[in-house]
Amino acid sequence: MKVLVIGGGPAGLTAAGTLASNGLEVALVERDYTLGGMAKELTCKGITECRDCGVCFAIDRAAEAVRTPGIEVFLSSEITSLEKTNEGFKAKIRSSARFVTHNCIGCNNCVEVCPVEGKAIFAPSGSGQPRTYWIDRKRCLHFKKSKCEECAKACPTKAIDFSDRAKNVTRTVSKVVLATGIEPFDAQELPRLACGTTSDVISSVDAERIINEEGRLKRPSDGVVPKTVAMIQCVGSRNEKTGIGYCSKFCCKYGTKIAQLIMEGSPEMDLDFYFMDLRTLYEPQEDFKKWAVAMKRKVEKKKVPRVRLIRCMPSLAYPGEDGKIWLRSSGETDAEVMETPYDMVILSVGMRPRGVPEDIASRLGLAFDDNGFARCQDEEGDPVVIVLGAMSEPMDIEETVTRAMAAAATPRKEAGE
Ligand SMILES: Cc1cc2nc3c(=O)[nH]c(=O)nc-3n(C[C@H](O)[C@H](O)[C@H](O)COP(=O)(O)OP(=O)(O)OC[C@H]3O[C@@H](n4cnc5c(N)ncnc54)[C@H](O)[C@@H]3O)c2cc1C
Repeated sequence: MKVLVIGGGPAGLTAAGTLASNGLEVALVERDYTLGGMAKELTCKGITECRDCGVCFAIDRAAEAVRTPGIEVFLSSEITSLEKTNEGFKAKIRSSARFVTHNCIGCNNCVEVCPVEGKAIFAPSGSGQPRTYWIDRKRCLHFKKSKCEECAKACPTKAIDFSDRAKNVTRTVSKVVLATGIEPFDAQELPRLACGTTSDVISSVDAERIINEEGRLKRPSDGVVPKTVAMIQCVGSRNEKTGIGYCSKFCCKYGTKIAQLIMEGSPEMDLDFYFMDLRTLYEPQEDFKKWAVAMKRKVEKKKVPRVRLIRCMPSLAYPGEDGKIWLRSSGETDAEVMETPYDMVILSVGMRPRGVPEDIASRLGLAFDDNGFARCQDEEGDPVVIVLGAMSEPMDIEETVTRAMAAAATPRKEAGE
């Protein structure tokens, strides 16, 4: 029996691995150039000790999927049609050309010699697996008059293949696992918080990327480690005006871990952590509160706090003439207006479910709730379609993986009973 898994994030990867270990064949279709989903864009949250953020677990599943013989991985691919048959579904998969073969060893020589401004050959984003590079045909000079071949000349493993073309294949499958995941809230949708207009106001997605690439938090404007940082939780979340009236569940978990991570790496830093309420999932929030209280520095023989937990939602961020970013908030009293300067502001964003193309959704008999989370229309009656991961409701990596393992290991009918 063959199973089609759509989406190569933590949910799809776990399902694919579990199915393959039970002897089933899997066709894993991922839209991106590499596997890992949102987790590949995230940083490990522990320096001196593991903080159980789950990121490495997801990346390890991606590396395993590439090596598992029972899993056929289709990268930079999408389902172009899905036809119901007596046996299940006939799926047409289109994979776009990447012009770099899996001989690529990621040495980066190609990027260094690429003459295009902004480059035309790229490493896959974040820590996704496999690490095979790809060429953007629209930018690459080889496909223009000059027929440039600098990257091919610099490649030690002859991995550049300009003759690569898009491929269409068909697979007949008896089950479909849908795991197309999340889209982080775009903080620029709230212009009053100045993300996108003030370079040192960044979203948590940017913060994760910067820490992953630089090893610590640095300001985008000048590369300097900030001394005063504000983190604002629930940006875009639990807010009917953004259409995300729900709690994304994982932001307090990652926000508190990022707070600890950046403070650990920078003893000169002070942090104000703005929140509505702390929902740290399975982890006791008391531990975070105790950590915050214990973070002190000595100033003239007195110990002064380095971390302040402030229960309020700042209403405005704006650049001051002093080069600082000023936050306007009500403080904890709700009665006064405070203006506080910072070197950098991080907006902790939540998520929206990523949709699936309409025709595929209707072929699979999916329904969507008011928030866009997907459900199988007939959970009891249709054992061939399984919806997994954060496209079904907000969940962190740990919950995503646990649920995906259970669903992929258990025949659907039993799982529903
Ligand atoms: C800023 C931020 C920080 C976070 N930090 C943490 C953390 O520290 N710890 C934690 O546990 N959780 C964290 N999370 C949550 C975590 O990212 C999610 O729990 C997890 O990614 C959900 O996995 P998923 O597989 O359901 O979805 P995703 O990770 O979104 O994966 C879905 C995959 O499907 C692919 N896809 C989408 N549409 C298609 C299509 N039509 N065809 C083919 N492929 C498709 C996507 O490209 C993607 O690879 C964080 C989230 C954010 C936004």
